[in-house]
Amino acid sequence: MLRRGYLEQAWDPALSPRELTDLLGSREMLHKSLRRDFKDERLRLVASHPFVIDGHDLRNVPARMGVTSYLEQTFGARTVPGGLAAIGAALADRLATREVTVERGTSALDLVLRDGRVVAVRTDAGDLDADAVVCAIDPRRLPALAGFVHRTMPAIPPVIAHVGLEGDVPDLPHEVVLHGDPMLVVRANGPAWDDHRPRPARRGRAPRSRGTGSTSASRSSPGSTAPRSTSSTPGGGSPLGLLWQGRATVRDRLGPTTPIPGVYAAGAHATPGSGLPFVGLSAALVAEAIGPS
Ligand SMILES: Cc1cc2nc3c(=O)[nH]c(=O)nc-3n(C[C@H](O)[C@H](O)[C@H](O)COP(=O)(O)OP(=O)(O)OC[C@H]3O[C@@H](n4cnc5c(N)ncnc54)[C@H](O)[C@@H]3O)c2cc1C
Repeated sequence: MLRRGYLEQAWDPALSPRELTDLLGSREMLHKSLRRDFKDERLRLVASHPFVIDGHDLRNVPARMGVTSYLEQTFGARTVPGGLAAIGAALADRLATREVTVERGTSALDLVLRDGRVVAVRTDAGDLDADAVVCAIDPRRLPALAGFVHRTMPAIPPVIAHVGLEGDVPDLPHEVVLHGDPMLVVRANGPAWDDHRPRPARRGRAPRSRGTGSTSASRSSPGSTAPRSTSSTPGGGSPLGLLWQGRATVRDRLGPTTPIPGVYAAGAHATPGSGLPFVGLSAALVAEAIGPS
């Protein structure tokens, strides 16, 4: 129901089936549905992990977001050979083929409106005329859009310490999560992971390395991870998108359209949310809203 009525087409409350409207407006939050459905705390930890690691409070995450676990179980989880940056490179190649000019190092500062409609993007390199503008950054950073999203907050990831492991490491799945306090996420990197053949899920276990002698250790604080990844400007958005603040977040975020004619919203701060699959869907929703050129 979510896929057909919300993720793959723009949601129109007037045309939405009752069931979907009820689902999107439901007050039930994830912490409650997990408590009800899973008596074993370990299952709750597994199901809530994607949201906890992104800095959300489960009391404010709508229960329907548990669909993430369903999607992973049904379709599997993917890694990108060469790392996620390879997606950016592939996208740049594709845009070049389609004769799209990419202005790197140019910052959008605001939108230029005439008679309430967008006519240009103000950048630090001058104004760029536009018939349609897709905002794919935190709209709070563009004064023309900021007023529409003042209730939203960026999701700030928890403090993360990166520690290198020394010694022999068993053949591990790409990611092993050891739930506890602190939570440990063991990620296997290196040439073996350039080969991303699907592997059967295995039971997580601790690497039997000789201790966790740190070959490299670094620490990212919430303040350093989120704004730096998006922009050096203080107050920038988060690559993890918006903090869930209950069901109102669906209403408070923009996308695929915005109240300004000619302006659309995609990306982690827009409908349907953060994470590469959802960000991709947000772009597809905008493309549908704009229509073929
Ligand atoms: C450490 C980490 C790990 C993650 N792991 C995963 C994962 O395993 N799987 C997954 O699905 N998702 C993952 N995510 C989330 C995923 O990266 C984001 O949801 C996704 O990248 C958001 O896409 P976006 O295009 O909205 O924003 P971004 O990818 O943040 O891109 C925004 C772009 O806009 C540019 N920009 C910012 N301000 C301006 C401006 N004023 N003018 C012009 N350009 C501007 C930025 O430089 C940047 O290039 C991870 C995020 C982090 C931080």
